[in-house]
Amino acid sequence: MALLAALGRNFEQALLPNACVFCGARRRHGERSICGPCCVDLPWIDSACSRCAAPTVTQLPQGVLCAACQQHPPPFEAAVAPLTYAFPVDAAIKAMKFRRKLSYGPVFANILGASLTKLPAGIDAVLPVPLHWRRQALRGFNQAEELAKPIGRFSGIPLIRNVYRVRATPYQSGLAAERRLGNLQGAFAVRGVLHARHVLVIDDVITTGETCSQIARSLLDAGAARVSILAIARA
Ligand SMILES: [Zn+2]
Ligand SMILES: [Zn+2]
Repeated sequence: MALLAALGRNFEQALLPNACVFCGARRRHGERSICGPCCVDLPWIDSACSRCAAPTVTQLPQGVLCAACQQHPPPFEAAVAPLTYAFPVDAAIKAMKFRRKLSYGPVFANILGASLTKLPAGIDAVLPVPLHWRRQALRGFNQAEELAKPIGRFSGIPLIRNVYRVRATPYQSGLAAERRLGNLQGAFAVRGVLHARHVLVIDDVITTGETCSQIARSLLDAGAARVSILAIARA
């Protein structure tokens, strides 16, 4: 029984791979599944717009937004993405999505957890960006949900699941920028009642920010007052 209890306590730790997910170096006891040197080497974003998470050359003064957000403020209140969508983060995200390397999930969830403090307060629901049901059925999982579940457990904030994709959209990465915008018009809908005031939307990558804008508009239309965004990486 003691062994079972210990296994239960260390369940999440036990699910993590024994080696650094980036370089394969063996993990020391108590070390996270990314080794110190790899963690330092990740393409961290030093300064970014607090509204859209786009990297900026210099630190913007408090309350000042990037030029794009000043011109066209997005419908969400804040966005945080700690990493650039560059090697090895891009490769890891693709491996997680397309080759089922779910061991990256807890690694990225830890990184996202540490970024929660950079978001505005008062978040009362966590929403993983939904996949279209057909794509989820094919893939067998939703990578955004794999990231959102540990965040929910860690923060105690409940996940909401009554938002869905109205129709399947082609992969964003395969489309020219102007086609992406048309591609996402009305892509999300809220089913039933939304019991949340301030929703935190979780995604793997922010590309143009259009997915975030679309989902934010759907949430605001359904009665949410505020929407914030948290993603691993910014393209
Ligand atoms: Zn490493
Ligand atoms: Zn911005």
